[in-house]
Amino acid sequence: MTRIAMARHPEGDPVAEDFSLERGAMPEPAEGEILVEVTLLSLDPYMRGRMAPVKSYAPSLSVGDTMTGQGVGRVISSKADGFAEGDLVTGMTGWASHAVLKGNEARKLDSDLPPSTALGVLGMPGFTAWTGLKKYGRPKAGETLVVAAATGPVGAMVGQLAKSQGLRTVAIAGGPEKCRIATETFGFDAAIDHRAHDAASLRKALEEAAPDGIDIYWENVGGKVLEAVLPLMNVHGRIPLCGTIAWYSGSDDIADGLPTVWRSILTKRLSVNGLIIFDHWDGFPDFLREVTPKVAADQITWLEDVAEGLENAPAAFMAMLKGGNTGKQIVKLS
Ligand code: NDP
Repeated sequence: MTRIAMARHPEGDPVAEDFSLERGAMPEPAEGEILVEVTLLSLDPYMRGRMAPVKSYAPSLSVGDTMTGQGVGRVISSKADGFAEGDLVTGMTGWASHAVLKGNEARKLDSDLPPSTALGVLGMPGFTAWTGLKKYGRPKAGETLVVAAATGPVGAMVGQLAKSQGLRTVAIAGGPEKCRIATETFGFDAAIDHRAHDAASLRKALEEAAPDGIDIYWENVGGKVLEAVLPLMNVHGRIPLCGTIAWYSGSDDIADGLPTVWRSILTKRLSVNGLIIFDHWDGFPDFLREVTPKVAADQITWLEDVAEGLENAPAAFMAMLKGGNTGKQIVKLS
């Protein structure tokens, strides 16, 4: 079997030397476990956090550990009740060609939809959007929502759900092509290219795109987008705080410091809720029940960006952190 390990903790943006391709013996499933041949691997921004040697909501990786990640694959050997050879499953396989999973930590995939949807629109990112919007966004028809990383699996789901509930939706995305996709594919009412703006001109563009102010800012990125959005938040606005990818590798590009941010929350009486999806897994079956038929009926659409080969996962991951992906980043294993 082959796997990608963390070769060292990155300093700043991850580079190729932070990863290593390792070969080893095929793992053996014990009682209650299955051996899976991985066919698809999900790359997600949270993995950058796992590479940092800091205390967080989940343990960080040690040097030599297999990179964390969710995969899809076929069972090639089963010692777990309910699983047979050939079953298609998803679970935390890591960045590896093969993985042993506990039966109670794997989920069988039996939908007619492409298996990759279990990693994006009908997986952890889609579920994050669905949960956070309902619980912390509390959308009402006629309100305005802004989300960045808008063509990624979280942002695209947030936008589509909000639009279907009668909100005005404004996308922030990197580059003209992603802005086109945001409006044409995902139905956003407006889209702004953050790469074409500094914080001040981004604020002006947002003022035009959200003339009634912003009621919900779905926070995916932090940085200058947060700086531009905050002054435009309406009183009693909501900020589901899902991610701050602009800062994951340590850059600190916000001119307005903490006092300004804190004061905005106070004077606008904003509700800011940290969202860690692992707290909410009990809602996953409800999410699948509600959203799967909408995906099947094309009422909710999705985009994927597929890299080929496990050995190319580090490059795809590094690119994704900088906006190199268009849609959910998947790696197809050969
Ligand atoms: P995406 O597939 O959207 O990939 C990340 C995107 O972030 C890039 O494509 C890029 O899009 C954007 N980006 C990167 N750097 C910047 C920057 N400096 N300024 C603005 N945008 C930037 O990721 P996901 O949809 O999977 O995740 C979106 C966010 O949600 C992430 O922050 C992630 O960590 C978070 N998340 C949090 C979860 C939780 O439980 N809290 C669960 C799942 C995701 P573009 O080119 O358009 O700028």
